[in-house]
Amino acid sequence: MKISKGYVIEKRPANDTDAFVKIVSPEGVSGFIVPRGSHRSSDLAAVFTPFTLVNGICYSSSQGDRRVVYDHGSYEILPYGKLQDEARMRAVRVLFTAFSSLSGPFDSALFDIFENTLRSILFKKDDPRGIMLSFMLSYLETEGIFPESERCFSCGKKSDLDFFSPEGGIICVNCAASSTVRPAGDGLIRLLKYAKKNPRKILEKTHWKDEILEYYGIIKEFFDHSVHR
Ligand SMILES: [Zn+2]
Repeated sequence: MKISKGYVIEKRPANDTDAFVKIVSPEGVSGFIVPRGSHRSSDLAAVFTPFTLVNGICYSSSQGDRRVVYDHGSYEILPYGKLQDEARMRAVRVLFTAFSSLSGPFDSALFDIFENTLRSILFKKDDPRGIMLSFMLSYLETEGIFPESERCFSCGKKSDLDFFSPEGGIICVNCAASSTVRPAGDGLIRLLKYAKKNPRKILEKTHWKDEILEYYGIIKEFFDHSVHR
């Protein structure tokens, strides 16, 4: 047995008194839980709104994959599987970590970004790196911590912008003495400018070409640096 966390994706009525609650865990296990009486209970209704993070005990039974969760009662899980691949599970974990590090008042715009991204990871066939690249760019713009893309973030110069640093964004040749910089081509600068202008539109783009997917690692470094500071 272990303590686990689940993430509510959606809830719908099962009958007059019960509800199906669809959940995904950071380990990539997804399933329906059926909290008894939850359709009517206002307490449970509040707990099981989409994207609520719930703690619970998760175990496998002798039948294999039945699990009992969560901290508001003992519920049966009707499993619908584990995420197909490691890359998708990693993407879910990144999303969970970012969601749990949120502070401040509830922000419905951010909530939508998280929810759309989770849906894309679970239900779209696109490369999860593309989905997460879209997520990170949109998240960073919405949170006001977008990387600098117009000028060197260190000295303000507008030319020789050949590098990218996870500490601030585009950085010029002169300032790029730090060993953490990565080479940044025109493509990365164009992507950043586009994403800054169209944070919502970029969220719909999950199917990136290979050239753009190359930027996933660079943006992920910046994201980790900014979000978990
Ligand atoms: Zn500079």
